[in-house]
Amino acid sequence: MSGLELRGLSKRFGSTVAVEDLHLTAAPGELVALLGPSGCGKTTTLRMVAGFERPDAGRVLLDGRDVTELPPERRGVGIVFQNYALFPHMTVAQNIGYGLAVRSIGARERRRRAEELLALMGLEGLAGRRPEALSAGQQQRVALARALAPEPRLLLLDEPLSALDAPVRRHLRAEIRRVQQELGITTLYVTHDQEEALATADRIAVLQAGRPEQVGSPEEVYLRPRSPFVAAFIGNGNVWETTVEGEAGGGLVAVRVGDQRWLVPCLERAHAKRSDEDASMTSAAPGPGSTVHVVVRPERLRLQAGAEAAPADNRAGVNWVEGRLRDVEYLGHAAMVRAELAGLEARALVPGERAGELRHRRGEDVVFTFAADAAWLVW
Ligand code: ATP
Repeated sequence: MSGLELRGLSKRFGSTVAVEDLHLTAAPGELVALLGPSGCGKTTTLRMVAGFERPDAGRVLLDGRDVTELPPERRGVGIVFQNYALFPHMTVAQNIGYGLAVRSIGARERRRRAEELLALMGLEGLAGRRPEALSAGQQQRVALARALAPEPRLLLLDEPLSALDAPVRRHLRAEIRRVQQELGITTLYVTHDQEEALATADRIAVLQAGRPEQVGSPEEVYLRPRSPFVAAFIGNGNVWETTVEGEAGGGLVAVRVGDQRWLVPCLERAHAKRSDEDASMTSAAPGPGSTVHVVVRPERLRLQAGAEAAPADNRAGVNWVEGRLRDVEYLGHAAMVRAELAGLEARALVPGERAGELRHRRGEDVVFTFAADAAWLVW
């Protein structure tokens, strides 16, 4: 396997387990995001791949070669950090050429490579400037160009956009993706920002407490989360604890929440798995009385007119639940509604022109509905 391969990486700091038995691959040219909350081991993983941190166990393979024992400068890895870390006394061109200069590559080749990268990064005309005369977004593009100049085999990005304003961040993440695809460079991208991971990655590894909870494409982790943690962490999912009543035919399972009965599809292998390597694992539907979690994305939860709109039953494949509007956040294109439903906290994203008027309906009793196929069961 070429590209990047992490085999069972582990790292402890005293009694803190930072990374535990992490298996992960990035195919050549693939961008894999390491996504997770603060302290889940993202940076420690990246530092072990870069060679700044020695793993307690496990191996790092790059293009089939075991680099675990190699110092950082001999791994062929380019790194971009959150805080640019440009050399302030050097020009943009000198910064970009720095990695080539330390490899004793001549001035003419350095200039040629710097010009190539300036064009690639949309930084033409800025070669002679010093970092202080650049915007934050430009500085980070120079940092990216500097990391790419020595033609590394692997690009490591450690929260590269965290220090930037939201509009610059959105623009630059698209630029990073474009450049990464143009160069076809294998990339490991550390971020705690789910939107950034969904927007840029080929695959996402969602980490929790040093372990991958799920590894999959952006669509898989969003639409088919395999654990309550992934469902809640990505996309602000509604994750409701419920009790199984029994199978309801047609691949549906009946679950109970308070006095409500919902019908939800129960697909094999829908429940939590540690990685995509154990794809052969299957699981039977959970039996009556089992605790399961129903996942419904906020944009799939529909707000009906009022409590009187409650349908008589859910035979038509529509589940419903009564609740009270707690809070409405107007977002312009939509409103994010928070409600309490049968003792559960719920979030619904209500799009369109009705969003504004919802602000005046705090405290009202309402009915929410969701189609059976909008729900997903994890356990
Ligand atoms: P963040 O997004 O906050 O940077 P992270 O997901 O990158 O978090 P790590 O920085 O890898 O997480 O840290 C994982 C765990 O290891 C944390 O509990 C952290 O406190 C601990 N840790 C990391 N580096 C060290 C260190 N040098 N000494 C002691 N503990 C450390």
